[in-house]
Amino acid sequence: MTKSTNAAIYARISRDVTGEGLGVDRQLADCRKLAADRGWIVAEEYVDNDISAYKGKRRPSYERMLEDISAGQRDAVIVYNTDRLTRRPIELEEFVQICQSAGVEEFATVTADINLGNDDGMFMARILAAVAAKESGRKSERQKRKAREIAEAGKPNGGNLRPFGYERDQVTIVESEAVVLRVLAERYLAGESLMSLANWLQEEGVSSVAGMPWRTTTLRQTLTNPRIAGLRAHNGVVVAVAIWPAIITKATHEQLVAMFARKKVTGRRAPRRYLLSGLLRCGKCGNKLFSSSRKDTRRYVCMSGPDHRGCGRLTIVAAPVEEWLAEAVLMRLDSPAMADALVGRAIADERHAALAAELQSDQAQMKELAELWADKGISMAEWKAAREPIEARIFNLDRQIGQLTGTSTLAGIIGNGEAVRASWDSLNLSRQAAIIAAVLDYATITPKTSAGRVSVDPNRIIATWRL
Ligand SMILES: [Zn+2]
Repeated sequence: MTKSTNAAIYARISRDVTGEGLGVDRQLADCRKLAADRGWIVAEEYVDNDISAYKGKRRPSYERMLEDISAGQRDAVIVYNTDRLTRRPIELEEFVQICQSAGVEEFATVTADINLGNDDGMFMARILAAVAAKESGRKSERQKRKAREIAEAGKPNGGNLRPFGYERDQVTIVESEAVVLRVLAERYLAGESLMSLANWLQEEGVSSVAGMPWRTTTLRQTLTNPRIAGLRAHNGVVVAVAIWPAIITKATHEQLVAMFARKKVTGRRAPRRYLLSGLLRCGKCGNKLFSSSRKDTRRYVCMSGPDHRGCGRLTIVAAPVEEWLAEAVLMRLDSPAMADALVGRAIADERHAALAAELQSDQAQMKELAELWADKGISMAEWKAAREPIEARIFNLDRQIGQLTGTSTLAGIIGNGEAVRASWDSLNLSRQAAIIAAVLDYATITPKTSAGRVSVDPNRIIATWRL
């Protein structure tokens, strides 16, 4: 008699609205029966809840199972169907690799058996994963078509949050908020700044629908949203006259949009100058620090005011923190723990960048088309015809980006801290920032302890590492 087979059962509930998804109990029951039929011992059942295997979100139980397999504690894996395991071909390859190096050859599914130990089984598994990926894409294509139909009928989209100015049904006007919107539009068109309007709302005790104080970004979105002019937008483009009443006129809406567009041209963002943007937190209030320069000194500061809501009472000079944290990251790159953590996660980030650039250009083109239509440069029919191929491209790009696992910002860098250090100064700022952000989750800057100017005090920096 050979030694007993310790099987892992993996089950996953997906957010399957169409009802074709199987309950986890059913999956588990079928898998247990399969184990019994084969005479395998169920060593452990791994269950992940309500997480799509396609989107690339973390699946704790799945990861734990992979660890147990790697550790040689499992001889077989049972799932209901391959798409429960993963819908991403890349992830499947990773799974197979782990199974192969751990000597696990038994892989059973309730719907079809696959032996990953031979080429045929592997081929089959790859095909199944490809089919699963396609199914996943098709499903969202259906959902997208449905969403477009709803939009073109001028109906609301049924989000969770009600829009400011309207009731939960997204149709009935909330008169008190409608008044506020009209005043805001009028004052903005008269030249008042968003900052000043946000402060005014704060003083008046008017909060956003989320119950939060207004930020200038929320304010901009609200004021330029075609919905308050009784227009239905879809993917950022007006597609129909809405079934709900307007709060401001179409003419006012157009003036607002034009005004924001004009201001945007003058207020273009400067290229990145701050290595640690978004990575530092205030040790007094916990808020993010923002970059700001005074005279010739670049600094990170805790900002108060409607857009930032920090305590406004903490500042640190940029250069020394940047130097110190960069050095800490480079040292960390050479730690053995890091090398282990990243095995199997290397995918070219050049690929990701290329896809993202394509996506951006397609999105820009969509916007141009919409503007052309709004300016009556093209008819609705022409516009519809023109946008279809672009939409298809955007859809595909989205999917390809979703299929890239993790990030390989660190590929070729792990364990090479010394080499990276030597070339660090020659890397551009975005690349440096990407390397730091891949390793560092965030760093908290504590208040200054001694009076006077201390150039760099490493004790003020508390790093929280991602890896
Ligand atoms: Zn603060």
